[in-house]
Amino acid sequence: MPNYLAFASDNYAGICPEAWQAMAEANAGFVSSYGDDPWTAKACSLIRDTFETDCQVFFVFNGTAANSLALASLCQSYHSVICHELAHIETDECGAPEFFSNGTKILPATGANGKLDLAAVEQLITRRTDIHYPKPRVVSLTQATELGTLYSPAEVAATGELARRYGLRLQMDGARFANAAASLGCHPGDITWRAGVDVLCLGGAKNGMAVGEAVVFFKKELAEEFDYRCKQAGQLASKMRFLAAPWNGMLQNDAWLKRASHANHCAQSLAKRLRAVPQLEIMFPVEANAVFVSMPQALVDSLHRLGWHFYSFIGAGGARLMCSWATEESDIEALVGDIQKLAAENTEFQEHFLSWG
Ligand SMILES: *Cc1c(COP(=O)(O)O)cnc(C)c1O
Repeated sequence: MPNYLAFASDNYAGICPEAWQAMAEANAGFVSSYGDDPWTAKACSLIRDTFETDCQVFFVFNGTAANSLALASLCQSYHSVICHELAHIETDECGAPEFFSNGTKILPATGANGKLDLAAVEQLITRRTDIHYPKPRVVSLTQATELGTLYSPAEVAATGELARRYGLRLQMDGARFANAAASLGCHPGDITWRAGVDVLCLGGAKNGMAVGEAVVFFKKELAEEFDYRCKQAGQLASKMRFLAAPWNGMLQNDAWLKRASHANHCAQSLAKRLRAVPQLEIMFPVEANAVFVSMPQALVDSLHRLGWHFYSFIGAGGARLMCSWATEESDIEALVGDIQKLAAENTEFQEHFLSWG
Protein backbone atom coordinates (compact mmCIF):
# COMPACT_ATOMS: atom_id res chain seq x y z
CA MET A 1 0.00 0.00 0.00
CA PRO A 2 1.33 3.48 -0.80
CA ASN A 3 2.49 5.62 2.08
CA TYR A 4 -0.47 7.99 1.90
CA LEU A 5 0.94 10.23 4.67
CA ALA A 6 4.30 10.78 2.97
CA PHE A 7 3.60 14.30 1.65
CA ALA A 8 1.32 15.76 4.34
CA SER A 9 4.07 17.50 6.27
CA ASP A 10 7.73 17.15 7.10
CA ASN A 11 6.68 16.75 10.72
CA TYR A 12 4.74 13.57 9.85
CA ALA A 13 8.11 11.83 9.46
CA GLY A 14 9.71 10.01 12.36
CA ILE A 15 13.07 10.53 14.02
CA CYS A 16 16.13 10.10 11.83
CA PRO A 17 18.80 7.60 12.94
CA GLU A 18 21.41 10.20 13.93
CA ALA A 19 18.99 11.97 16.30
CA TRP A 20 17.69 8.67 17.69
CA GLN A 21 21.20 7.35 18.31
CA ALA A 22 22.24 10.56 20.07
CA MET A 23 19.22 10.34 22.37
CA ALA A 24 20.04 6.73 23.17
CA GLU A 25 23.60 7.71 24.06
CA ALA A 26 22.32 10.43 26.38
CA ASN A 27 20.17 7.87 28.15
CA ALA A 28 23.03 6.97 30.45
CA GLY A 29 22.21 6.99 34.15
CA PHE A 30 22.03 10.02 36.40
CA VAL A 31 22.92 13.43 35.04
CA SER A 32 22.32 16.99 36.27
CA SER A 33 19.02 18.49 35.16
CA TYR A 34 17.86 21.77 33.56
CA GLY A 35 20.73 21.99 31.08
CA ASP A 36 23.64 21.59 33.44
CA ASP A 37 24.90 18.49 31.64
CA PRO A 38 27.60 17.54 29.12
CA TRP A 39 25.18 16.91 26.22
CA THR A 40 23.70 20.38 26.46
CA ALA A 41 27.15 21.94 26.71
CA LYS A 42 28.27 19.99 23.66
CA ALA A 43 25.19 20.93 21.62
CA CYS A 44 25.75 24.63 22.37
CA SER A 45 29.36 24.31 21.39
CA LEU A 46 28.51 22.48 18.13
CA ILE A 47 26.04 25.24 17.22
CA ARG A 48 28.78 27.83 17.84
CA ASP A 49 31.16 25.83 15.63
CA THR A 50 28.53 25.45 12.92
CA PHE A 51 27.90 29.19 12.76
CA GLU A 52 31.54 30.09 13.48
CA THR A 53 30.61 32.63 16.10
CA ASP A 54 30.25 32.93 19.85
CA CYS A 55 26.45 32.84 20.08
CA GLN A 56 24.16 32.21 23.05
CA VAL A 57 21.95 29.12 22.64
CA PHE A 58 18.71 27.97 24.31
CA PHE A 59 16.71 24.80 23.63
CA VAL A 60 12.91 24.96 23.68
CA PHE A 61 10.20 22.47 22.81
CA ASN A 62 8.78 23.90 19.60
CA GLY A 63 8.88 26.60 16.98
CA THR A 64 5.99 28.63 18.31
CA ALA A 65 7.78 29.02 21.63
CA ALA A 66 11.10 29.76 19.94
CA ASN A 67 9.65 32.52 17.75
CA SER A 68 7.38 34.00 20.41
CA LEU A 69 9.98 34.14 23.15
CA ALA A 70 12.69 35.40 20.79
CA LEU A 71 10.41 38.20 19.58
CA ALA A 72 9.28 39.01 23.11
CA SER A 73 12.90 39.42 24.14
CA LEU A 74 13.46 41.96 21.35
CA CYS A 75 10.34 44.05 21.93
CA GLN A 76 8.48 46.14 24.44
CA SER A 77 4.71 45.77 24.49
CA TYR A 78 4.28 48.99 22.47
CA HIS A 79 6.54 47.79 19.63
CA SER A 80 5.62 46.00 16.40
CA VAL A 81 7.12 43.17 14.35
CA ILE A 82 7.07 43.33 10.55
CA CYS A 83 6.76 39.99 8.78
CA HIS A 84 5.33 38.52 5.59
CA GLU A 85 1.56 38.17 5.58
CA LEU A 86 1.92 34.38 5.27
CA ALA A 87 4.51 34.12 8.06
CA HIS A 88 3.96 31.38 10.64
CA ILE A 89 4.14 33.98 13.44
CA GLU A 90 1.18 35.78 11.85
CA THR A 91 -0.96 32.86 10.65
CA ASP A 92 -0.08 29.76 12.68
CA GLU A 93 0.93 30.63 16.23
CA CYS A 94 -2.46 31.40 17.72
CA GLY A 95 -1.34 34.87 18.81
CA ALA A 96 1.56 33.52 20.87
CA PRO A 97 4.05 36.22 19.76
CA GLU A 98 1.58 38.92 20.86
CA PHE A 99 0.76 37.03 24.06
CA PHE A 100 4.33 36.43 25.22
CA SER A 101 5.35 40.00 24.39
CA ASN A 102 2.35 41.41 26.25
CA GLY A 103 0.81 42.98 23.18
CA THR A 104 3.53 43.66 20.62
CA LYS A 105 1.67 44.04 17.32
CA ILE A 106 2.40 42.03 14.19
CA LEU A 107 2.42 44.16 11.03
CA PRO A 108 2.02 41.93 7.95
CA ALA A 109 3.73 43.01 4.74
CA THR A 110 3.28 41.77 1.18
CA GLY A 111 5.78 40.19 -1.18
CA ALA A 112 5.80 37.67 -4.04
CA ASN A 113 6.50 33.97 -3.43
CA GLY A 114 6.22 34.25 0.35
CA LYS A 115 9.18 36.63 0.56
CA LEU A 116 9.12 40.10 2.07
CA ASP A 117 9.15 42.95 -0.41
CA LEU A 118 11.63 45.39 1.12
CA ALA A 119 9.82 48.42 -0.32
CA ALA A 120 6.67 47.27 1.50
CA VAL A 121 8.68 46.79 4.70
CA GLU A 122 10.22 50.23 4.42
CA GLN A 123 6.78 51.71 3.84
CA LEU A 124 5.50 50.10 7.05
CA ILE A 125 8.50 51.41 8.97
CA THR A 126 8.28 54.97 7.70
CA ARG A 127 4.59 55.66 7.11
CA ARG A 128 4.05 56.82 10.67
CA THR A 129 6.40 58.21 13.25
CA ASP A 130 3.84 59.51 15.72
CA ILE A 131 3.14 58.16 19.17
CA HIS A 132 -0.17 56.55 18.16
CA TYR A 133 1.42 53.90 15.94
CA PRO A 134 3.01 50.71 17.38
CA LYS A 135 6.70 51.46 16.91
CA PRO A 136 8.37 49.00 14.47
CA ARG A 137 11.15 47.20 16.30
CA VAL A 138 11.79 43.89 14.51
CA VAL A 139 11.76 42.51 10.99
CA SER A 140 11.08 38.77 10.93
CA LEU A 141 12.16 36.60 7.98
CA THR A 142 11.22 32.96 7.43
CA GLN A 143 13.99 30.85 5.88
CA ALA A 144 12.97 28.65 4.06
CA THR A 145 9.65 30.49 3.58
CA GLU A 146 6.19 29.09 4.15
CA LEU A 147 5.94 28.64 0.36
CA GLY A 148 9.18 26.68 0.03
CA THR A 149 11.17 29.55 -1.43
CA LEU A 150 14.48 30.96 -0.21
CA TYR A 151 16.13 34.28 0.53
CA SER A 152 19.58 34.42 -1.06
CA PRO A 153 22.49 35.59 1.11
CA ALA A 154 22.29 38.97 -0.64
CA GLU A 155 18.56 39.23 0.08
CA VAL A 156 19.04 38.46 3.78
CA ALA A 157 21.87 41.00 3.88
CA ALA A 158 19.68 43.65 2.22
CA THR A 159 16.98 43.01 4.82
CA GLY A 160 19.56 43.27 7.58
CA GLU A 161 20.82 46.53 6.13
CA LEU A 162 17.31 47.99 5.94
CA ALA A 163 16.56 46.93 9.53
CA ARG A 164 19.80 48.46 10.80
CA ARG A 165 19.20 51.69 8.90
CA TYR A 166 16.02 52.22 10.91
CA GLY A 167 17.27 50.80 14.21
CA LEU A 168 15.26 47.56 13.95
CA ARG A 169 16.36 44.06 14.88
CA LEU A 170 16.27 41.09 12.50
CA GLN A 171 14.84 37.78 13.66
CA MET A 172 14.77 34.65 11.50
CA ASP A 173 12.20 31.87 11.76
CA GLY A 174 14.37 28.94 10.71
CA ALA A 175 11.95 26.07 11.24
CA ARG A 176 13.36 24.83 7.92
CA PHE A 177 16.73 26.56 8.13
CA ALA A 178 18.52 23.27 7.36
CA ASN A 179 16.66 23.00 4.03
CA ALA A 180 17.68 26.57 3.21
CA ALA A 181 21.34 26.10 4.14
CA ALA A 182 21.55 22.80 2.23
CA SER A 183 19.87 24.20 -0.86
CA LEU A 184 21.85 27.45 -0.97
CA GLY A 185 25.07 25.59 -0.29
CA CYS A 186 26.42 28.59 1.58
CA HIS A 187 27.97 28.86 5.02
CA PRO A 188 25.22 29.07 7.69
CA GLY A 189 26.86 32.25 8.95
CA ASP A 190 26.40 33.93 5.55
CA ILE A 191 22.60 33.80 5.80
CA THR A 192 22.47 34.71 9.49
CA TRP A 193 24.81 36.84 11.59
CA ARG A 194 27.08 37.91 8.75
CA ALA A 195 23.93 39.15 6.96
CA GLY A 196 22.60 41.01 9.98
CA VAL A 197 20.39 38.38 11.67
CA ASP A 198 20.30 39.05 15.42
CA VAL A 199 18.33 35.98 16.53
CA LEU A 200 17.72 32.69 14.73
CA CYS A 201 15.06 30.15 15.69
CA LEU A 202 16.75 27.02 14.41
CA GLY A 203 14.39 24.16 13.64
CA GLY A 204 15.03 20.59 14.72
CA ALA A 205 11.74 18.71 14.42
CA LYS A 206 11.22 19.08 10.66
CA ASN A 207 14.88 18.29 10.06
CA GLY A 208 14.54 14.82 11.66
CA MET A 209 14.54 15.28 15.42
CA ALA A 210 11.72 14.17 17.72
CA VAL A 211 11.18 17.56 19.24
CA GLY A 212 12.90 20.83 19.87
CA GLU A 213 14.19 24.03 18.37
CA ALA A 214 17.22 26.10 19.31
CA VAL A 215 17.04 29.85 19.89
CA VAL A 216 20.38 31.26 18.79
CA PHE A 217 21.31 34.80 19.85
CA PHE A 218 24.14 36.17 17.74
CA LYS A 219 24.28 39.29 19.91
CA LYS A 220 24.77 37.90 23.38
CA GLU A 221 23.48 41.01 25.13
CA LEU A 222 20.04 40.35 23.59
CA ALA A 223 19.89 37.04 25.46
CA GLU A 224 19.93 38.65 28.88
CA GLU A 225 17.46 36.90 31.19
CA PHE A 226 16.15 34.79 28.30
CA ASP A 227 16.51 31.78 30.60
CA TYR A 228 13.86 33.29 32.89
CA ARG A 229 11.59 33.90 29.91
CA CYS A 230 11.88 30.22 28.93
CA LYS A 231 11.20 29.01 32.43
CA GLN A 232 8.15 31.24 32.90
CA ALA A 233 6.73 30.12 29.56
CA GLY A 234 7.05 26.45 30.51
CA GLN A 235 9.89 25.94 28.05
CA LEU A 236 12.70 24.92 30.40
CA ALA A 237 13.08 21.14 30.05
CA SER A 238 14.06 19.46 33.28
CA LYS A 239 15.64 16.54 31.42
CA MET A 240 17.32 18.99 29.07
CA ARG A 241 19.88 16.45 27.90
CA PHE A 242 17.20 14.78 25.73
CA LEU A 243 16.27 18.06 24.07
CA ALA A 244 19.92 18.90 23.48
CA ALA A 245 21.50 15.54 22.60
CA PRO A 246 19.82 15.11 19.19
CA TRP A 247 21.58 18.28 18.02
CA ASN A 248 24.87 16.53 18.63
CA GLY A 249 23.83 13.69 16.36
CA MET A 250 22.54 16.08 13.70
CA LEU A 251 25.40 18.58 13.68
CA GLN A 252 28.23 16.07 13.71
CA ASN A 253 29.22 14.92 10.21
CA ASP A 254 26.73 17.41 8.75
CA ALA A 255 23.82 15.00 9.16
CA TRP A 256 21.48 17.99 9.45
CA LEU A 257 22.48 19.16 5.97
CA LYS A 258 22.46 15.68 4.45
CA ARG A 259 18.98 14.94 5.77
CA ALA A 260 17.67 18.32 4.58
CA SER A 261 19.36 17.90 1.24
CA HIS A 262 17.59 14.58 0.72
CA ALA A 263 14.23 16.26 1.39
CA ASN A 264 15.11 19.07 -1.04
CA HIS A 265 16.09 16.61 -3.78
CA CYS A 266 12.85 14.70 -3.30
CA ALA A 267 10.91 17.94 -3.80
CA GLN A 268 12.86 18.61 -7.01
CA SER A 269 12.16 15.14 -8.29
CA LEU A 270 8.47 15.38 -7.42
CA ALA A 271 8.14 18.80 -9.07
CA LYS A 272 9.88 17.63 -12.21
CA ARG A 273 7.42 14.79 -12.66
CA LEU A 274 4.38 16.89 -11.83
CA ARG A 275 5.39 19.51 -14.41
CA ALA A 276 4.82 16.85 -17.05
CA VAL A 277 1.12 16.52 -16.12
CA PRO A 278 -0.81 19.07 -18.19
CA GLN A 279 -3.61 19.59 -15.65
CA LEU A 280 -1.17 20.76 -12.99
CA GLU A 281 0.75 23.90 -12.35
CA ILE A 282 3.64 24.34 -9.93
CA MET A 283 2.81 27.57 -8.13
CA PHE A 284 6.15 28.76 -6.73
CA PRO A 285 9.83 28.16 -7.39
CA VAL A 286 10.77 24.86 -5.72
CA GLU A 287 13.85 25.83 -3.72
CA ALA A 288 13.55 23.80 -0.51
CA ASN A 289 11.38 20.79 0.43
CA ALA A 290 7.88 21.99 -0.51
CA VAL A 291 5.98 21.70 -3.78
CA PHE A 292 2.79 23.76 -4.10
CA VAL A 293 0.57 22.51 -6.89
CA SER A 294 -2.47 24.11 -8.39
CA MET A 295 -4.83 21.37 -9.56
CA PRO A 296 -8.53 21.01 -10.38
CA GLN A 297 -10.63 20.59 -7.23
CA ALA A 298 -12.04 17.34 -8.63
CA LEU A 299 -8.51 15.95 -8.77
CA VAL A 300 -7.82 17.09 -5.19
CA ASP A 301 -11.01 15.32 -4.09
CA SER A 302 -10.13 12.13 -5.98
CA LEU A 303 -6.66 12.03 -4.43
CA HIS A 304 -8.13 12.53 -0.96
CA ARG A 305 -10.65 9.74 -1.66
CA LEU A 306 -7.81 7.39 -2.60
CA GLY A 307 -6.29 8.18 0.80
CA TRP A 308 -3.59 10.75 0.03
CA HIS A 309 -3.11 13.34 2.75
CA PHE A 310 -2.02 16.86 1.94
CA TYR A 311 -3.08 20.30 3.02
CA SER A 312 -4.55 22.97 0.85
CA PHE A 313 -5.20 25.74 3.37
CA ILE A 314 -1.56 26.56 4.01
CA GLY A 315 0.14 29.50 2.36
CA ALA A 316 -1.60 30.74 -0.73
CA GLY A 317 -3.88 27.76 -1.41
CA GLY A 318 -3.14 24.92 -3.78
CA ALA A 319 -2.00 21.47 -2.68
CA ARG A 320 1.08 21.61 -0.48
CA LEU A 321 3.27 18.54 -0.89
CA MET A 322 6.07 18.36 1.66
CA CYS A 323 9.14 16.14 1.49
CA SER A 324 11.22 15.10 4.48
CA TRP A 325 14.34 13.17 5.40
CA ALA A 326 12.21 10.01 5.24
CA THR A 327 10.59 10.52 1.82
CA GLU A 328 11.38 7.67 -0.53
CA GLU A 329 11.54 7.51 -4.30
CA SER A 330 8.76 4.92 -4.18
CA ASP A 331 6.51 7.46 -2.39
CA ILE A 332 7.05 9.91 -5.22
CA GLU A 333 6.33 7.23 -7.81
CA ALA A 334 3.14 6.17 -6.07
CA LEU A 335 1.74 9.70 -5.83
CA VAL A 336 2.72 10.70 -9.34
CA GLY A 337 1.35 7.38 -10.64
CA ASP A 338 -2.03 8.01 -9.03
CA ILE A 339 -2.14 11.58 -10.33
CA GLN A 340 -1.28 10.46 -13.86
CA LYS A 341 -3.89 7.72 -13.75
CA LEU A 342 -6.62 10.04 -12.47
CA ALA A 343 -5.69 12.75 -14.94
CA ALA A 344 -5.77 10.34 -17.88
CA GLU A 345 -9.08 8.76 -16.83
CA ASN A 346 -10.89 12.02 -16.30
CA THR A 347 -11.06 14.44 -19.15
CA GLU A 348 -13.50 16.24 -16.87
CA PHE A 349 -10.49 17.49 -14.84
CA GLN A 350 -9.20 19.23 -17.90
CA GLU A 351 -12.50 21.04 -18.38
CA HIS A 352 -12.72 22.00 -14.70
CA PHE A 353 -9.22 23.32 -14.86
CA LEU A 354 -9.92 25.45 -17.89
CA SER A 355 -13.08 27.00 -16.47
CA TRP A 356 -11.52 27.46 -13.07
CA GLY A 357 -8.10 28.72 -14.05
C1 LIG B 1 6.56 24.26 11.66
C2 LIG B 1 6.90 25.70 11.66
C3 LIG B 1 7.18 26.36 12.87
C4 LIG B 1 7.11 25.69 14.23
O1 LIG B 1 5.87 25.18 14.54
P1 LIG B 1 5.59 24.41 15.92
O2 LIG B 1 4.44 23.54 15.59
O3 LIG B 1 5.29 25.43 16.94
O4 LIG B 1 6.84 23.65 16.26
C5 LIG B 1 7.58 27.69 12.81
N1 LIG B 1 7.70 28.33 11.64
C6 LIG B 1 7.44 27.73 10.46
C7 LIG B 1 7.62 28.48 9.19
C8 LIG B 1 7.02 26.39 10.43
O5 LIG B 1 6.76 25.80 9.28
